[in-house]
This record gives sequence, C-alpha cells and structure tokens, in this order.
Amino acid sequence: MVERSYSFNDIPAIQVLSPEVAARIAAGEVIERPASVVKELIENALDAGATAIQVEVREGGFTFIRVADNGHGIPRDQLPLALARFATNKIRTAEDLSRVRTLGFRGEALPSIAAVARVEILTRTAGEIEGTRLIAEEGRQIVQPAASPVGTAVTVRDLFYNTPARRRFLKSPLREAERIRETVHRYALGYPHVAFRLIIDGREVLIAPPGTPLERAAAIWGREVADELIPVSWEAADLRIHGLISRPTLGRASRAFQHFYVNGRPIRSGLLAVALERPYAGRLPAGRYPLAILHIDLPPAFVDVNVHPQKAEVRFSQERSVYWGISQAVEAALAPFPRPEEATIAWPFEEAQPAPRPLAEPSVEYGRPSRWRAVGQLLQSYILAQSEDGLIVVDQHAAHEQVLFERLWAGDAIHPLPSPLVLSFSAREAEQLEAELETLRSLGFDLEPFGGNAFVVRALPASLAEQPVPALLNVVLEEAAALRRGGGDPRERIAMRLACTAAVKAGDGLSLAEMQALLDALQETWSPATCPHGRPAWFLLSREEIERRFLRR
Ligand code: ADP
Ligand code: MG
Repeated sequence: MVERSYSFNDIPAIQVLSPEVAARIAAGEVIERPASVVKELIENALDAGATAIQVEVREGGFTFIRVADNGHGIPRDQLPLALARFATNKIRTAEDLSRVRTLGFRGEALPSIAAVARVEILTRTAGEIEGTRLIAEEGRQIVQPAASPVGTAVTVRDLFYNTPARRRFLKSPLREAERIRETVHRYALGYPHVAFRLIIDGREVLIAPPGTPLERAAAIWGREVADELIPVSWEAADLRIHGLISRPTLGRASRAFQHFYVNGRPIRSGLLAVALERPYAGRLPAGRYPLAILHIDLPPAFVDVNVHPQKAEVRFSQERSVYWGISQAVEAALAPFPRPEEATIAWPFEEAQPAPRPLAEPSVEYGRPSRWRAVGQLLQSYILAQSEDGLIVVDQHAAHEQVLFERLWAGDAIHPLPSPLVLSFSAREAEQLEAELETLRSLGFDLEPFGGNAFVVRALPASLAEQPVPALLNVVLEEAAALRRGGGDPRERIAMRLACTAAVKAGDGLSLAEMQALLDALQETWSPATCPHGRPAWFLLSREEIERRFLRR
C-alpha cells in the first residue's frame, strides 16, 4: 500500500475542472485514436442517409481526416449546435433510447472530436441554395457561407494536438492507417448499398461501388474469398439473422474476418463468435476460424446499446435466444457440408487438398502492419525480408538513415559521454558552431563554449552514441556552411546529414539480429517508404509477381 502523509497546508484542494479540461478528458472515452474519429464520422454519414461516403486520411489520420458524404446535410442555423455537447437530432426523450435505430444518439462525437482537434464542417441541405462552413478551433467557432454540394464533409486536422500524452501513447501512423482501413472495411461490409472510397496518403486503397453483399465482400476480400462464401438467412419471431459465412473449406488463423452487426451497428463480441463457430466444429480444422458478415436484426427494445463509450458492445435482453438463433442459422447454412464423421462417402484425398489461399486483399504498398522477417543479406547492402505479401528488399543504408533521422528529428534520448570531451576549432569554425548551438541542443547534443575556440561536449543524441564526436561535429560544420549558401531548415538539414553519417553503409555486413532490429525500427517510423532525401528505402516483390515468373499463374 502506498502511504501518503500531508501536512494540513498542502492537502490538494478539490476543484471543479474547467469545461475545456473536462471535455478533453471525456473525449478520451469516445475518441481513443484516429480510427475512432473515422468510425464516428462514418456513422454520422450513414445516419444522414448517405449513399456515398469518401474517407481520406494522411499520416495515420494524425494530421488529416476527411469524411465526405452525400447525406441530408445540416441546415445553417443548426450547424453550431452540432458541436454542442449532448446535442443530437436523433433522440429527444429518455424513452427514445429504447427505440434508437440510428448509429449515433448521444450527441457526443462531434464535440469530443472538436475538443482534441481542429474541425471544419462544410455542408448544405437540398433546401438551401448556398452551403455553410463552420471552423472550430480551440473553443472558437466561425460560421460563414460557402459553396458546397448537398451533403456534409467533416475535416479533422492535428488530432490530439492539445493532448500530447495520448499522441505519444499511440503507435506509428502505419498502424493507425491500418486500423482506419479495418474500420472502413467493417462499415463497407455492413452497408453494401452505400458506395465507399478510401484514400490513404493520396493513394486510393478502396473503391467499392454500391452492390450486393457478395459483390461488396468481393470488393474488400477479393473474388477468390467471395467465391467461398455462402448465404445465411434465418428468421424466428422477432429475430432475423442474415449475411454471409465461409464454407468449411476456407478458414483463417484469427477472428479478424468475422463481422457482426446488431441492427446495423458493428459489434465486438466473443460470445457471438462462439455461437458462429459452434456449427463449424468437426468441419473446420481446430485453430482455424470461419469468416462471417452476419446481421442480427431484432426490435431495438431488446438491445441496450448504451453500455459502452464507443457503442461497440451491446447487451441483449434475450441473450440466450440470440446465441441460439445464430447457431441455428449457421447450422442450417452449413447443412450441405456434412462433418467428416457423418459423411456417407469418405473423401479420399483429404491430405492432398490445397491449403486455403491467402486473402487477395488490396495491398497498400506501404502500410502492412504484419512484421517483416529478415531472411538474409544480399551483396552486403540489401536486407531480404519475408512478409505476408512476398519478398521485401530493403536498402540498408536508406532504411537506417530514415530511422535515425526520425529519431533525431523527434527529439532523441540523450546519451551522456563517460567523460566530457574538450575539442578545439579554428576561429571561423567556432563561430559557425556557436551559431548552430541551439539546433544542436534541440537534437540532443550537450555542447558548450569552453573558452577560446574550444567546446566541451558532455552528451550526444542516443542514436549517435557510437560515433566519434569530432567526425560528427565536422559534419555539422560542413552542413552549416552549405546551409549558409543554400538555405533550408537548419535543424532538418543537420539531422539529415548526421543520420546519413551514422547509418550503416552499403558493404557493411549485418547479423540476422541486426537486420531484424532495423526492419522493426523501420516499420515503426512515420514515413518508412523513403530515406530522408526521398529515395525509396525498400520495394516489394509480390507473391503474384514471383508466381508469374515461375509460370504458376
Ligand atoms: P449523434 O450522432 O450522437 O447525434 P454527433 O456529435 O455525432 O452526435 O452529431 C451531432 C449532430 O450533428 C447529429 O445529431 C446530426 O444532427 C448532425 N450531424 C453530424 N454529422 C452529420 C452528417 N454527416 N450529416 C448530417 N448531419 C450530421
Ligand atoms: Mg454521431
């Protein structure tokens, strides 16, 4: 137990938080990460009756998220209300809570987003000739007329700019972009009649025109997977279960491809998964999980959606009948696929069955969250790595340069030298170094004039700890001279030069462990596609390309 003793004078006083601080704390419940913003904005678009939704994000959504829809729009006089806490057009009374058919109803999402980001809403209703723009930043709001198509586009910039702790807690933009992709997929799979388009860092990674559930599954999971899906359709009294599930010939190593929607709301639930999987027992090998897009529709009064801050879980008042219903529905759909022990004709080539093919997911060139595994080094210059998509060839110098550059740029850890080092320079050099002192300190150097033209160095940025100090400072001096001639941002330019100096070179032998460490570090960077100068850091030789070359396709 932690014991605390306070003298009477320093007992912390209880204070009511200012509304801004309270809003920021509450926002954390709803807006955990960039993907939560995307989720809330998509839900608003669907609630507004949109038939086309476009999602665009940059840098994992941290710098830019825009969700544009062709829904009913927001009338100008109501626009400021959209950002007020607990303001909603979806319920009016407490009783309405048991009748909610919309995805939103708490009036919490937009105010929560506006508490932790800069928000701009551009909107127009069919009844208005002119649209409206609302800009909300740091608690201030500006409303002005603006040209706009019918519908709403919400832009969210600089997410968590005022809550740096949350920003730090989150993983790299790559991981967040992947979560955003999963979020868009989840809604796109559940709403096949709505067109979806997703753009990540300027690349269109999903385009899904309105279609049937099967067509939508094909747009997202690929034709080959869609060919393995079968329909589910089952009804009893008030409960209706419908959607698509995989034949027992197709399974996945995880439950990531199981999607459940309760009255259109995507839901996470281990229990629903168990109900789905029970009928597969004996049909699907252990450790494999079926794929599913399953809708569970029942009267809203039987579902309590108000139990989870992100409305990602529900409580059923008729829990047992819902689980029983799912198992029944799935069992009925799987009837044409008898369990091996029940099969009347034994399948003679059980062993020889081809393994299920991996999903032909649209692959983002960079944006793979799965870990790259180092398999070897080529010409002492390139790292060969295996990924889910094929062979990755990494330029070891460019990759390491990018890793070091980002560490320096972000403010590296400080590595104290075992003993301070005094170095002398020419008068001119000393003057140049003096001019860059602030920049160097901001990069993690502890450097001070030491009388005459000497400097004392006490610490280095941790990424440069192995490097000889005089060589590092020579590089800084060279770059300082170049900056004087050419211009540019001194901090960036110096960090780039230092990263280049300290990075492994072509021709350096690396152990497998060193290669793996470099791959892991590269995957965590903000911008792993290139080195700081913009040269590519790696390329993918895809499975398809490899198969083509061996004439397997
Ligand atoms: P909720 O969805 O729970 O009502 P939000 O904070 O998400 O709360 O949105 C507040 C209100 O703003 C909504 O009730 C709706 O009236 C309006 N609104 C938000 N987004 C849109 C949109 N894309 N199209 C039309 N109206 C919207
Ligand atoms: Mg909402």
